[in-house]
Amino acid sequence: MAKRGILFIVSAPSGAGKTTLCNSVLHKCKGLKLSVSHTTRKPRQGEIDGLHYFFVKENVFTEMISRGEFIEWARVHNNLYGTSKNLLEEMVKQGFDVILDIDVQGGKQMKEIFPESVLIFILPPSIDILRERLMNRMSDAENEIIRRLSKARDEIRDYIHYDYVILNDNIKDAVDLFTSIIIAERSGVARANHEWIAKKFFEVKI
Ligand code: 5GP
Repeated sequence: MAKRGILFIVSAPSGAGKTTLCNSVLHKCKGLKLSVSHTTRKPRQGEIDGLHYFFVKENVFTEMISRGEFIEWARVHNNLYGTSKNLLEEMVKQGFDVILDIDVQGGKQMKEIFPESVLIFILPPSIDILRERLMNRMSDAENEIIRRLSKARDEIRDYIHYDYVILNDNIKDAVDLFTSIIIAERSGVARANHEWIAKKFFEVKI
């Protein structure tokens, strides 16, 4: 039986450094892919359709909802975001482990649908540093930054529902920790290839 990939659900308040962290881990770990979500948000500078997100109009997104094309979807900061069932299923079937960069609402939905998925919460070093990072981004207006900062505090409360928490104080340490979690989860007995072990050790003469 072919191995099915592991789902790593990664959530963090915006500005916690989640994108940088996920990209570094994707670079370091083989057999890992990033799930590309659909969103109604406008692309930011440098964002590419199909690579960072599939950017769609709200009516297209709502039609996809009614056709049941999303495993989970949520309204975040007044935009819609969702994970395509087909795209995710394809990657998992091929045996890839998948990182899903989704918000806490999506994280909870995914844990209900796939209880074996691994939930990782990224914490910023502090609220002050989070504010600084959001201000440096410049792509969001000031009132948007204030809104995201207060939302961040609400989101952080949800870390308790996650399996792992990573403090993104030092990027190298955070990447190492994230990588270690992936390696450890890949070696879990629950995910071992029991058929292969049986063939190798119990179905041979001694
Ligand atoms: P941003 O607009 O900054 O790229 O993302 C805003 C938030 O939406 C982030 O917390 C991100 O993790 C979340 N997000 C991105 N894609 C999805 C998705 O497919 N589903 C859910 N529930 N949240 C998503």
